[in-house]
Amino acid sequence: MKISLASASSRAGHRSGSARGPLALGAEVRLVLPAHRPGERPKGEALPALAVLGRSNVGKSTLLNALLGTKVARVSQTPGRTQALYWYRVGEKFDVVDCPGYGFAKTSKEKRDSFEGLIESLLVGVPEGAGPEPAEGKGAGATAALLLVDSRLDPQQSDLSMALFLRESSVPCFVAATKWDAVKPSQRVRQLRTLAAAFEGPDRPLLPVSAETGENLPELARLLRAALSPASKE
Ligand code: GDP
Repeated sequence: MKISLASASSRAGHRSGSARGPLALGAEVRLVLPAHRPGERPKGEALPALAVLGRSNVGKSTLLNALLGTKVARVSQTPGRTQALYWYRVGEKFDVVDCPGYGFAKTSKEKRDSFEGLIESLLVGVPEGAGPEPAEGKGAGATAALLLVDSRLDPQQSDLSMALFLRESSVPCFVAATKWDAVKPSQRVRQLRTLAAAFEGPDRPLLPVSAETGENLPELARLLRAALSPASKE
């Protein structure tokens, strides 16, 4: 079956350093590639790759910085920016791919198309022989995906579309509901139920997290590391 983001929608800075965040565990984190073209991946042997996705302003940069324990992620992406996938290598063990934020109402069709091309090729992979030049590591899709949703908001259409696309692309997926510290304790049970009904599945855990307080970051990092370890591959 041909999977595309468009069909799912219709239905539903170079910094590096040794990092102490719970996902990096002291390993060096470095930007290895800003990928502007679909299918572009770091050269050499492909490592397990985690695609990190979410609407603009969901708190993706802040969460990545907290998980990796270093200021790797670019601060807020402005709508006018060029679309690129930022590949960070963590201790030569796995890659974290910071994907462009989506969901800006004013995004042009051209920009949406480029976003969809980049994301689809990252998640689904590029068929053998496709594209202008063969590159090492080309072909394979991401090992796992981390979908970020804003825990303060009811499920958003663009997030539901992305969740559907991820389900159909069969990439193991984790959902983190960000900014959990900003949800009043009296509203937490109801809000978590709403988010879980929309995004959680039997093989798709959802965790409410806060980059501000660190709540649930070690648990999230543990799940992600397990999914990215070579032993977890069949
Ligand atoms: P991005 O566009 O998805 O990369 O989002 P940013 O990381 O730039 O964050 C967007 C806004 O959300 C900023 O004002 C952050 O300070 C805020 N934010 C990010 N994480 C948290 C969090 O855990 N709790 C709260 N209360 N605010 C957060």
